[in-house]
Amino acid sequence: MKKNARLLYLLTIWTFFTPRSSTATTLVSDENPPAVTPSVTYVLSMPEPQTHYFDVEMQLKNVAAATNAKKNGYIDIKMPVWTPGSYLIREYAKNVEAFTVSAGGKAVPSEKIRKNSWRVYTGEDNLTIRYRVYANELTVRTNFVDADHGYVTPAGMFMYHDALKTIPLRVVVQPYKTWTMVSTGLEPVSGEKFTFEAPDFDRLVDSPIEIGNQKTFTFTASGIPHTVAMFGDVEYDEKRLAADYKRVCEAAATVVGEHPCTHYTFIVHHIPPGGGGLEHLNSTTLETTRNAYATESNYKGFMTLVAHEYFHLWNVKRIRPIALGPFDYENENYTHMLWLSEGCTSFYEDNILRRAGFHTPEAYLTIVANDITVIENQPGVRVQSVAESSWDAWIKGYRPNENSANTTISYYSKGSVLGTLLNLAILAGSNGERSMDDLMRFLYNEYYKKQKRGFTDAEFRQAAEQMAGRKLDDFFTTAVNTADPINYNAYFEPVGMQLVNVASKTQDGFLGAGVSPANGKSTITSVRRGSAAYTGGLNVGDEVISIDSVRVGDDLLRHISGRRVGETIKVLVNRAGFLREIPITLSQNPLVSYRLEPLTSQTPAQKALYNKWLFIK
Ligand SMILES: [Zn+2]
Repeated sequence: MKKNARLLYLLTIWTFFTPRSSTATTLVSDENPPAVTPSVTYVLSMPEPQTHYFDVEMQLKNVAAATNAKKNGYIDIKMPVWTPGSYLIREYAKNVEAFTVSAGGKAVPSEKIRKNSWRVYTGEDNLTIRYRVYANELTVRTNFVDADHGYVTPAGMFMYHDALKTIPLRVVVQPYKTWTMVSTGLEPVSGEKFTFEAPDFDRLVDSPIEIGNQKTFTFTASGIPHTVAMFGDVEYDEKRLAADYKRVCEAAATVVGEHPCTHYTFIVHHIPPGGGGLEHLNSTTLETTRNAYATESNYKGFMTLVAHEYFHLWNVKRIRPIALGPFDYENENYTHMLWLSEGCTSFYEDNILRRAGFHTPEAYLTIVANDITVIENQPGVRVQSVAESSWDAWIKGYRPNENSANTTISYYSKGSVLGTLLNLAILAGSNGERSMDDLMRFLYNEYYKKQKRGFTDAEFRQAAEQMAGRKLDDFFTTAVNTADPINYNAYFEPVGMQLVNVASKTQDGFLGAGVSPANGKSTITSVRRGSAAYTGGLNVGDEVISIDSVRVGDDLLRHISGRRVGETIKVLVNRAGFLREIPITLSQNPLVSYRLEPLTSQTPAQKALYNKWLFIK
């Protein structure tokens, strides 16, 4: 990727007459072409890991021309405010301190000009920037270092200059003196220990780094070497785990049918509470518990996480909405399609486990019905569409409050259901000739490989309709873009199934308040929109003292059980230090419980499509 000076000069002339490539534009911006290629090397050290600090030395060489430093008299150095895949402004710069700059051994003045930007007053070619990063938050999207290990989320560790984002970058890791392992998806530089190269800043941001004495094992899937780096004291059967990773990875690879990586790295943190992951181009970080492999259900749950994050290497990292790359690291990047990027990845996590044989067809049907039950039991499903949910991930999905269940729907859970419906629509519309896999394959080939860009909402819809062989107004206009009810059975009928609500029709009264029982008290943590608690005026934060003058401890629900629909109870609450008695008339239980059942009679065509849907040979 590096270009020599002569080539750059030719590029300058060439770009005068042609549309400019971004590389040529950013590298040759002063009046004269630069004599040499600019370079950026980050040296990352952690000499006192117990203090939770990383030290970063950012070595800039030959950058004056590329950054317009001589002309402007300064360069601006920035830290991203968020990391791709986790749609929240995290303000990584809040952890930065001791920012200093030197050139040729002399201090260079600098000042902070924005929350995440430093202006360095210099026209020098070669500079050394030093800063420290406080790292004491161990999640898949933050930085951490302690006496046991270090974990780097590059967006929160490495700064950049706008004009130097497209050049190859180097990272030299200097592990703490007793640590011997560095695990990352970055390319190692041969012959230089713990030295890695990224073709550009985007790739660097997309490559987390685990540093310590982690155990590793390897396996080959789809002909590609995979490494698993395990942090945390945990018992596991390496042979079984490697074999099951391979099963999941190879089943995931059958969706698109082409694997774009030359190697892949899993970084697995076994820590409490443990749960979740973050996807990257050729790696992922998974967070799980120390007993992830202790029971069959935990094991399957972990494999579901593996399938989810691994499938992201296609869906979102390469098959992506146009807003999700190249990224603006300083602002929110808005898209209506996280229901596709995240939700349909959730759809595929179970679908992949089904095709790999981890789930029986019956178990898969239960998962699908449960997913529908979950979203239909959330009042927010009738308020917010998944397109809105995607758009507002930054301020709603990632910033939930006590009212979120009433006003929002997760683009993960409803998106997963929509993945099932779109798959069924394509299967039915093409008489089993095509499935959601064909849509994924088309998007990968057309937009990632051929056009080398993301797709618009309209392009995605067009591709989906092409695969289904029909207009999908019911799907896009209603299911994606409104909060209106979905006619599920129209999608299940072609596979000979129907969705049935099996919730028992009881006359037991329903309160509609969630409680957190603790310290002998029942404190209300949520109030369901439209419920008795909601219309009657119970509030989140209320401590329930008594019901009908009977003292309530941490057992509120026991006091409600046996009460009938229409019965009025007197609830005494402590609200911010004041006692209030509130009459509440209990309502009908609105909760649904869905099951997928076969239609009473099925045609051979329905049976054939059913088998195709559930990978029954
Ligand atoms: Zn995801």
